[in-house]
Amino acid sequence: MADAKLEGTSRIRRVNLGRMSDTTRLRTGGCLCGGVTYETPQLGPILQCHCENCRRLSGNFVAACRAETERLVIRDPEDSMGWHDLGYARYGFCRSCGSTLFYQASDKREITSVMVGTLNDASGLDLKEIWFADEAQPHNILDGGVPHHSDNAAGLS
Ligand SMILES: [Zn+2]
Ligand SMILES: [Zn+2]
Repeated sequence: MADAKLEGTSRIRRVNLGRMSDTTRLRTGGCLCGGVTYETPQLGPILQCHCENCRRLSGNFVAACRAETERLVIRDPEDSMGWHDLGYARYGFCRSCGSTLFYQASDKREITSVMVGTLNDASGLDLKEIWFADEAQPHNILDGGVPHHSDNAAGLS
């Protein structure tokens, strides 16, 4: 994937990212080997998903924050990014080291979810909701202080 330098290209339609924890801090991150890095000026709160697909693609469960795709700058100078297509969604990963970085619903490409574990600094981001809580593996102790959903009907995609 080529560099996606998108900021400032136009007055882009703003996407509702949901309740913000720390709305406007510049966030940076990257994969394990450093081949893929990114930055975004805004992230939504943390959403966890314990569905089977998220479990397998992440190795445990997905914790991700929504970013506006138009404002997410991905740097991939060695063309390391790959996308694995699940049909209803796809996830972006580094082909060199295997890190999973991004997630996009097929019908909502304007939003890219960023895997929280790939952020350089995740401070100030709060957990908002837990999806597919019923499918969480027994070793995962779920935060009882946020809504649990048995599916992603609350808006996960
Ligand atoms: Zn990598
Ligand atoms: Zn999921």
